[in-house]
Amino acid sequence: MVGKTGDDRIVGTGEPDRNCPRCPRLAAYRDANRASHPDWHNGPVPSFGGSDAWLLIVGLAPGLRGANRTGRPFTGDGAGELLYATLLRFGLATGPYRAEADDGLKLRGCRITNAVRCVPPANRPTPQEIGQCRPFLASEMASLPRLRALLALGSIAHAAVLAACGHRPARFPFVHGQLHRLPDGPILTDSYHCSRLNTNTGRLTEAMFHAVFHELIAACDGSPGASADAVSRIRPDPAPAGGADGQ
Ligand code: SF4
Repeated sequence: MVGKTGDDRIVGTGEPDRNCPRCPRLAAYRDANRASHPDWHNGPVPSFGGSDAWLLIVGLAPGLRGANRTGRPFTGDGAGELLYATLLRFGLATGPYRAEADDGLKLRGCRITNAVRCVPPANRPTPQEIGQCRPFLASEMASLPRLRALLALGSIAHAAVLAACGHRPARFPFVHGQLHRLPDGPILTDSYHCSRLNTNTGRLTEAMFHAVFHELIAACDGSPGASADAVSRIRPDPAPAGGADGQ
C-alpha cells in the first residue's frame, strides 16, 4: 500500500510482500534465483535493527550472495565485513558477526536497510526500480520515532534518501564524509559504499569509514569537545525557507 502526501512526498506503509510485483525485472530475477538456489532467502530483504534506532544506515540493494542469500542486510559478503566490524567498534552492535542472519549479532541504536529491497542483476537497479521501492524507504524512515541521523552508503542511496524525504539531490550534493542538516530534522551523512570493490581499490579505507562514524556520532552526541568540530562541519540547509522539494 502506497500513497503521496500533499507536498508530493511518497509515503509507504509496511514491509514489501515477499512476492512484491512492483519491479518486473527484479521479480523475474528473484524467481530465477529461487529456482536455482531454493535454500537462499531470495526475497525483499527486511531491515535489521530495532524501532528505537536513532541512526538509519541506508545501502543500495542486497548483494546476490550476501543479503539475498542470508536475508539480512549486508550479511554474508565483503561489504558486511567492514560495516559490522565498524558498528561493533563504535558500540552500535554487540555480539558476534559470523556472516549469517542467526549469528546472534544485535544492533544498538541503529538500523540497516537498503534503498532497493530486492537483489538487482549485476548490483545495478534502474532508476525506475529505485523509485518503485522508495515508498518502503519512506515508510522505514517514518517508522522510527527516535531517528536523528541517516548514513547513506554511496551516491545512489544518498539520492534515494533525499527523494524519500522530498528533497532534490542537487540541493544536497553527495560528498564523502559530508554531514547535511536536512530541513525537517535528521542529519544526513555521506560515505562511499563499503563494497569490496571500493575497499580493494582504496577509494574507501577502513580509516576513512571509521572517520565517518566518528564525526556522525560526535555530531549527534552533543557532548562538549568531542562534538564541537563535527557540529561545526555540518552543512546547513542551503535554502531553508523553501521547505521540502517535490519530486
Ligand atoms: S525492489 Fe522493492 S518495489 Fe521492487 S519488487 Fe522488490 S520490494 Fe518491490
